[in-house]
Amino acid sequence: MPTTTMKIGVLALQGDFDAHRRRIEELGAEVVLVKKPEQLNEIDGLIIPGGESGTFLKLLGKDGFAKLKDFVRAKPTFGTCAGCILLATDVENPKQAGLGALDITVRRNAYGRQIDSSIREGLFLNEPIEMVFIRAPKIERVGEGVEVIATEGKDKDEVPVLVRKGKTLAATFHPELSADPRIHKYFLELVANGKHSPQ
Ligand code: GLN
Repeated sequence: MPTTTMKIGVLALQGDFDAHRRRIEELGAEVVLVKKPEQLNEIDGLIIPGGESGTFLKLLGKDGFAKLKDFVRAKPTFGTCAGCILLATDVENPKQAGLGALDITVRRNAYGRQIDSSIREGLFLNEPIEMVFIRAPKIERVGEGVEVIATEGKDKDEVPVLVRKGKTLAATFHPELSADPRIHKYFLELVANGKHSPQ
């Protein structure tokens, strides 16, 4: 599927959805700002942005959550920060419901108040990349079949910050706030190949 014919939804209930919209449009795909569950029917992939995951749960409500749960099992989805928390099977600090699309344990606000936000360097597919963290969660456990695509720090064994299983991708940082488009490009490639990947 060429990028120009893709329709990418960005969940626009709250949080920093607009930076994702701009990046995806710059990369040539069409963006649908998703505010109602039925809009999920018209998109090829979805971005769940950063924000406050507890607030997302409230705004989604029971029906919205159920519809989103079906969507993330069927179509490529990329969650950043709060979006990563929503996609997880297990959420700590405090415990809350996850969509269960990625078998990971995520600890919310894991870096403490002192380092609320920071820009650090990590490795994305073995290449250095800037990473913006804002009240970031930490991926504390990566389940079977979940690949680590990027780590924080310069060592490959460092903390996983971008993980993937099949067509589901989640980052604890905010690639939409860096000038570098590589991670969104990677997601668009997943959308292009979505129908053929396992999971
Ligand atoms: N701290 C937020 C949460 O727990 C996530 C922060 C973010 O998305 N930048 O949901």
